[in-house]
Amino acid sequence: MAKGLAVTFRHMLTRADTRQYPEVRPDLPARSRGVIALVEENCTVCMLCARECPDWCIYIDSHKETTPAPEGGRPRAHNVLDRFAIDFSLCMYCGICIEVCPFDALFWSPEFEYADYDIRDLLHEKDKLAEWSQTIPIPPAHDPGAAPPKEIAAATTPKPARPAARTAPGPRNTAVRAIRPPGSLPKKPGEGPGAVEES
Ligand code: SF4
Ligand code: SF4
Repeated sequence: MAKGLAVTFRHMLTRADTRQYPEVRPDLPARSRGVIALVEENCTVCMLCARECPDWCIYIDSHKETTPAPEGGRPRAHNVLDRFAIDFSLCMYCGICIEVCPFDALFWSPEFEYADYDIRDLLHEKDKLAEWSQTIPIPPAHDPGAAPPKEIAAATTPKPARPAARTAPGPRNTAVRAIRPPGSLPKKPGEGPGAVEES
C-alpha cells in the first residue's frame, strides 16, 4: 500500500512523457517493422518470397526478355518485373519474405503512416514499395567483438596456393577393361566357357 502511494506520488512529480504526434514523430528503433520496402533493381523475379509467404499476399508478374550476345556468345534470357504488390490488409508482418529473399530486394522500413479508410487501398504496388525503400534505415553497427561478416572474412583470408602444373605426364592406366554386350550380367568366378568344375 505504502509502496503504491509512493509510486503514484513520484508520477505526480515527474513530467508526462507524451509525444506530440503528428507534430513530433516518434524515434522508432532501427529494426521496427513498419512496412516492407522493395529495392526493385535487386529483384530477379525468383518468386521465392511469393511462394514462402504464409498469407499469399505477394503478387508478382513478369516477362522474359532476351539480351543479344556479344560476338561469339549466346543471347541471354532474363526476367523483367512487371508487377510486385503486397496486400497489407492480409500481411501479418512475419518477415519471412524478407528472410528468404536471396538477392536483398526486400527490407523492413519503419514507415507506418499508410493507414487508410478502405481496406482495398492497402494493396500497394511496386512504385509505392520502391518509394518506401528511401526510408530503409542504415543497418546498426556490429557489436564490438562480434565475428566479422562472412563476406569480409572471405575477402580478407588469403587463398591457398594452387598446386603447380605437372610438367611430365604420369604413368597411364594400361589395364584392359572388359566390354560386355548390353544386358549381360557380370560373370561370377567359376562361370563361363573356360570354367573348371570342382569334383
Ligand atoms: S511479412 Fe509475412 S505475411 Fe507479410 S508479405 Fe512477407 S511473408 Fe507475407
Ligand atoms: S525473393 Fe527477392 S528476388 Fe525473389 S522475387 Fe521475391 S523480392 Fe524478388
